[in-house]
Amino acid sequence: MHVKEAIDLLKSKGYRITPQRIAILKVLENNKEHPSAEDIFLQARKYSTFISFASIYNILDILEKEGLIKSIFGIDGIKHYDPDTSCHAHFFCKKCGRLLDLKDNFIELSRFKESLSRYDVESVEVIVTGICPDCKKEL
Ligand SMILES: [Zn+2]
Ligand SMILES: [Zn+2]
Repeated sequence: MHVKEAIDLLKSKGYRITPQRIAILKVLENNKEHPSAEDIFLQARKYSTFISFASIYNILDILEKEGLIKSIFGIDGIKHYDPDTSCHAHFFCKKCGRLLDLKDNFIELSRFKESLSRYDVESVEVIVTGICPDCKKEL
């Protein structure tokens, strides 16, 4: 998801482009951290101080509805947002709580999706849980 493309798409759909909305798009652009709404709220305030928590949910819902971002429920029960809408699996580390991309397994996941051709598949969500390589080193 790129800020400029996202703005163009939102404009074409008739959404108002406010400084708050731009701030949220900036936080999400190239973001690989899978932030929660709260993380986004805290970071977006760097760009726009007049941002309310309610407006964060409002814009995140719009972005998800328009296919600009995806949301993933981590095993922490928190909704995480991903500006990378490509088909990819996630790894949830039980130690550091990070949600990481498993990009190398992309091919298998798209093959799995293809194997379900009898179904009308909207999305495939795979969340692997365990200990990430960084935390494993510290054990
Ligand atoms: Zn970890
Ligand atoms: Zn991801």
